[in-house]
Amino acid sequence: MISKFAKSPCPPRDKLESLYNSGLTQKEIGELYDVCYQTVNSWMKKLKIQSRGIMHIVKAGSENPQWKGDKAGYAALHYRVSNLKGKPMSCEICGTHRKNKTYEWACIGDYKNMDDYKRMCRSCHRKYDKSHLAYTNKRKLFI
Ligand SMILES: [Zn+2]
Repeated sequence: MISKFAKSPCPPRDKLESLYNSGLTQKEIGELYDVCYQTVNSWMKKLKIQSRGIMHIVKAGSENPQWKGDKAGYAALHYRVSNLKGKPMSCEICGTHRKNKTYEWACIGDYKNMDDYKRMCRSCHRKYDKSHLAYTNKRKLFI
């Protein structure tokens, strides 16, 4: 690969444009010409070839580079349940589904098991957690 400080000969506009429009990325075109993608980007600017822009692809779950698997923290595990099962809109304990109440995913067993969560209103969630002595100790496991 040629250093980014060295001037590389620019390919003809129609050649570069057809490569880019065939779906190749600037990085892939750079590999063809043995230059870095910044060089391809500067060629395209010079030749006034419209870039597709930066692609933002958000990968979920284990596809995401920040996925921590079983090492995820307390909050991350609760977000994972919400993403998987949606936001709770009712309580499985008292049966309420009034709109002015706050509903949460309450863990009733293993934090890492997505099936061990129940929809609860905040009031029932607090009562549930207080009645299970290990609550504060469980939270400390994640801190
Ligand atoms: Zn409730």
